[in-house]
Amino acid sequence: MRTLTKDAINKIGETVSLMGWVNVRRDHGKLIFIDLRDRWGIVQIVFNPKNKELLGLADKLRPEWVVKIEGVVKERPEGMKNADIATGNIEIEAIKLEILAEAKTPLFDIASDGYEIGEESRLKYRYLDLRRPRLLKNLTMRDKTIAFIRDWLHKKDFIEIETPILTKSTPEGARDYVVPSRLHAGKFYALPQSPQQYKQLLMVAGVERYFQIARCFRDEDTRGDRQPEFTQLDIEMSFAEEEEILNLTENLFTDLVRNLFPEKRITQSPFSKFTYKETMEKYDTDKPDLRKDKNNPNELAFAFIVDFPMFEWKATEKRWDAVHHPFTKIKNFQEEISEKNAEKLSALQYDFVLNGYEIGGGSIREHNPEILEKVFEIMGNEKEDIRRQFGHLLEAFKYGVPPHGGIAPGIDRLLMILQNEPNIREVIAFPKTGDGRDLMMDSPSELSVGQLKELRIKIEKQKEK
Ligand code: ASP
Repeated sequence: MRTLTKDAINKIGETVSLMGWVNVRRDHGKLIFIDLRDRWGIVQIVFNPKNKELLGLADKLRPEWVVKIEGVVKERPEGMKNADIATGNIEIEAIKLEILAEAKTPLFDIASDGYEIGEESRLKYRYLDLRRPRLLKNLTMRDKTIAFIRDWLHKKDFIEIETPILTKSTPEGARDYVVPSRLHAGKFYALPQSPQQYKQLLMVAGVERYFQIARCFRDEDTRGDRQPEFTQLDIEMSFAEEEEILNLTENLFTDLVRNLFPEKRITQSPFSKFTYKETMEKYDTDKPDLRKDKNNPNELAFAFIVDFPMFEWKATEKRWDAVHHPFTKIKNFQEEISEKNAEKLSALQYDFVLNGYEIGGGSIREHNPEILEKVFEIMGNEKEDIRRQFGHLLEAFKYGVPPHGGIAPGIDRLLMILQNEPNIREVIAFPKTGDGRDLMMDSPSELSVGQLKELRIKIEKQKEK
């Protein structure tokens, strides 16, 4: 049976079988040492000259070869112990060595933190890049964070429900990624910008408390630290008002930090809360960085921004657009809403801010189908288009819809901040470049003529520039 490196310390005197990668090899005259690495750490293996054949084989080993080693766990002599590593009190005296796979020399150092290496090569050889302890740690903390969130919400009676990835365009402000349908030539699915409409329909369905660790897709032009696909904690609740949703969010994130990131200090509890107007007047931004000491990597200043304007004027398109999304409830609702008073309307919308980043947003939703239809009209949609695009939602709201609202904190940005990373690519296993390419898989890529034919798609040749 295999022993993990971390468990070898408890097996002094026993013969164990270890498997992993050669981290480094050191020749000391007649002896050969290797540091064997597995996911849990490193342990020193020693090959002594008594067994010539074994030593000869060990001599061939190079970094990143995959090996199986049988040996006896020995306590290291005093003076040879290494307090810097968890297994520093022991070494394994090898009896048998099996080479499971040889390895080409990696094109870059995988023992360093990797910041010094060009991102193009790190992303192209991501499976090697992920071997560095820093990235493995990021993946581990991401997993722990998601597991904690799931557990926490389950205890509060939320249920996680998967919603479709192949769906229909939703007007959430960004461009959709689209997928051609083969069975319905000329028609397209869209990848969800978020599960917004599905989660609202789940409220109509009586689910009451929904969440999902949801993948979202937005086809946006390269803009800073964005990814074409990202993960958010999508939450929706029935019969809840703004305060309940903000309290839930605050309690979840406070418990998360206390349990998984105890070295972090939360600047202020309860979290700061400003109206949009207040934050703009005071900080000239809707995502203020409220840390007391901005050089302190362990400070977390959470804040909520509330009462956003409902609409903003899009000068280029000459129309009103929803600041958050059209499904948001108007706070100061007046008997009539129209283009004329659009400017004065505020929304039951909130943003969740951490250390100067917007890490999430949400709102109480408009559940009156007539008002919702009016909102779409103010945004410049013709009645016919509204029925075509949102008919399902408007119809659903006629069958007994509970008042509801939700929020969606982004997992990538949250982890970036918690792990003190400079960008979200460091906390995503297989991120894309700023211009949306996956350098490892070489995507996006062309389709074969046969595939295009099947989809009845013709590619227009790009004009020579
Ligand atoms: N769907 C929204 C978003 O992704 C969040 C929400 O309103 O719950 O930003």
